[in-house]
Order: sequence, then structure tokens, then C-alpha cells
Amino acid sequence: MPEKFLKKVCLLGDGAVGKTSLVRRFVSDQFEDKYILTVGTKVVKCDIKVSISGAEATVTLMIWDILGQRMHDSLHAAYYSGASGALIVCDITRRETFDHVPEWIEAFRKSSPKSCVLLLANKSDLPSWGATKDELDELARKYDANGYLTSAKTGQKVEQAFGEIALKMCTEASKPE
Ligand code: GDP
Ligand code: MG
Repeated sequence: MPEKFLKKVCLLGDGAVGKTSLVRRFVSDQFEDKYILTVGTKVVKCDIKVSISGAEATVTLMIWDILGQRMHDSLHAAYYSGASGALIVCDITRRETFDHVPEWIEAFRKSSPKSCVLLLANKSDLPSWGATKDELDELARKYDANGYLTSAKTGQKVEQAFGEIALKMCTEASKPE
């Protein structure tokens, strides 16, 4: 029997960077899209296969997406609670969304200190403000993370990003307290 995991992953980042589009790109056509509407959030559930030390495992991802642009503090706690990982998204056409990445990571790590994060610089199909993959990688390294240039529009690196966070959550993240 393949091993099974259930993991919560949060999408974080400024408004309109493409969080919802990335989730839609990843889950559409491939997975059952069940969702629970709660205050300010949407949860999408989907299964993904990963290979752990050569053995295939199934990870059921509970993907939490913020609805709307802002969350107040009380909502943050509920949103992050029990998460094993987060995809921190910025938009390569807007520099300030990149500058806000540390705030998002630090807020998340406060409530989930041992969780893993991945940085996604999204909208890679559009011209950027001049950011390079090196700049993204340098920021990612500060947080022990990897960075991907993604596009929800073309699908570039979307599957890889979700695949990597799923694998990391199974192999690296400790159980939430
Ligand atoms: P969210 O607020 O972070 O959930 O952002 P959305 O997913 O709602 O996307 C905001 C806007 O950016 C929408 O108009 C999307 O169509 C657009 N968008 C999202 N991802 C991409 C992308 O990879 N490339 C392009 N060109 N547009 C994108
Ligand atoms: Mg959204």
C-alpha cells in the first residue's frame, strides 16, 4: 500500500499576484474541486503523487487560498493554523509585491515555525521590472527555500512548484503543534 499524507498548504502574497489563478491552473481538469467557503478563505482539496526515497506516496493537499486582498490579524491565525507549508507568491510585474515577501514569510513562520515555504515569482509570461532568477534565489535562500518563476497563464513551473512543496511537507516539515 502506498503511503498517504494529508497536508495543509497556504497561498500567501499581495493581492492580484495570481494566487487564485495558480491554484486553478494546478487543480483544474485534474482533480475534484471540492471547496469549503469560510470567512475570507477558500479551501481546495486535491491528490498529488510524490516519490519519497523511490516509493510512491499520495499526498492529499488542502490548499488554502485567501479570498480578497486583506486579512486582519484574527483571521491570520486561523488561516495559518495547522499548515505544513506555504507558497509565497509575488508578481514579477510589480516590484513591491516582491518587497513584501519577507513580511508574508515572517508572519507565516511565526505561527508555523518549522513549516516549509517556496517562493513563486508569478506572471513570468509578462515583462518583469528587471528582477532576475538570481535575485529571487537569493531571497529564497535567506529562508531556506527555493524559488520558481511561474506563470498561471502558460502553466510554467506550476506543477513543479506544487510537487515540490508537497514533497517537502512530507519529508521535512514536522507535525504542527
Ligand atoms: P490573487 O489576488 O493573488 O488571487 O490573484 P488572481 O489569481 O485573482 O490574479 C489577478 C490577476 O492577474 C487576474 O487578472 C489574473 O488573470 C492575472 N494573472 C494571474 N496569474 C497570471 C499569470 O501568470 N500571467 C498573467 N499574464 N496574468 C496572470
Ligand atoms: Mg485570489
